[in-house]
Amino acid sequence: GHEAGDLLLMMATKRIKEQARATDILCRLGGDEFVMVMEGASPQDGHRLVRDIIAAFSTPFEIQQQRIYCTASIGVSVYPDDSTDPQTLVVYADLAMYRAKQNGRNDFEFYTSNLNFIAHQWLDMENGIRHALKENQFFLVYQPQMGIEKGKLTGVEVLLRWRHPERGLIPPLEFVKIAEQSSLINQIGDWVMDETCKQMRTWLDKGYKLPRVSVNVSPRHLRSDSLVKMLSSVTAKYGISPKMMCIEITEHALLEEGDTVKKNMRLIKDMGFIISLDDFGMGHSSLLYLKRWAVDEVKIDRTFVDGLVNSPEDRVIVKAIVALADALGLSLIGEGVENQLQADILSQSGCKNVQGYFYSPPIEIKEMEGWLKK
Ligand code: C2E
Ligand code: CA
Ligand code: CA
Repeated sequence: GHEAGDLLLMMATKRIKEQARATDILCRLGGDEFVMVMEGASPQDGHRLVRDIIAAFSTPFEIQQQRIYCTASIGVSVYPDDSTDPQTLVVYADLAMYRAKQNGRNDFEFYTSNLNFIAHQWLDMENGIRHALKENQFFLVYQPQMGIEKGKLTGVEVLLRWRHPERGLIPPLEFVKIAEQSSLINQIGDWVMDETCKQMRTWLDKGYKLPRVSVNVSPRHLRSDSLVKMLSSVTAKYGISPKMMCIEITEHALLEEGDTVKKNMRLIKDMGFIISLDDFGMGHSSLLYLKRWAVDEVKIDRTFVDGLVNSPEDRVIVKAIVALADALGLSLIGEGVENQLQADILSQSGCKNVQGYFYSPPIEIKEMEGWLKK
């Protein structure tokens, strides 16, 4: 709520201020954006300051008996090296901050002329994505999800691919983040949903029995007003029951306490979709989220699955996630299973569902049909 938000802003401001020198100027541009001017400081001073600010955010804020975790992303531009014009310096700092965010929050970046280049590359990429949507360069692949014990197909995750006429296959990690910076990601999401339902209809008409089908929905799309309407019209268009589908969201999407996310989650759930929390354990996982957001399923992030064989800590974490899921009545999938040993340990820990290269990489339609036949 507003009150807690205001408190957080004040406390955050205080922490930033504590790191600054008496002569530095700190102001809030609006929302959660601040600008600090350090006159007569060397780039080294700037370096020290941003690291101190980031460290100052490492302890959670206590607000209304709750612990709030928040991070800072910082961009730095230097006078007169980068520019002598104040406006340009702010734009450059902003570009650098964008870059820091891209690296994963809680980081900082200095402006380099390279960033200007990168900014242009981004624009190119955005135009490329628009073009790709128009020219049908996107397609979907399907990755089987399995029950360990019976070795049966329990689900399929739909994953997006971009076949670029010159650059070849571009993996989603290279363009989803860029698309996420604008409403392009919503258009992509609309396309993925339409294509998925269309394919499901084709398979159903061919007489295949389908396991439930999971689709990734980006945080930005989850926040949008149009998502729910799209989901209901697309499923109706192809006569697909939402009960046959699962919406995968990341914890990240839930960190935003916006009312639209809350409302959308409820509506999606009420329509009958299964809701799965992707990459679990990587973000600010909180038991609270699982309960509050009516999640049905948790996907254990592949970094933990990867660590199962060699890291006792990861084994403990996975056991704890399993216990948690059991207690809350959630189903579980272990992601990124690449070998028998990982599968065995997962199974012994009580995680019965898996997905990963060990069983199958994401595959194209024909090959998926082979699986459906089996
Ligand atoms: P994700 O949702 O966590 O998807 C799982 C990723 O792990 C996929 O990469 C998959 O190919 C890969 N993977 C599966 N099994 C294994 C394994 O055993 N080992 C390893 N190392 N990797 C495995 P992909 O297809 O490149 O997708 C990457 C990410 O891009 C996805 O992560 C998801 O966040 C995003 N993405 C993909 N398709 C879509 C989409 O349609 N919409 C949105 N919004 N995001 C998508
Ligand atoms: Ca996923
Ligand atoms: Ca994942």
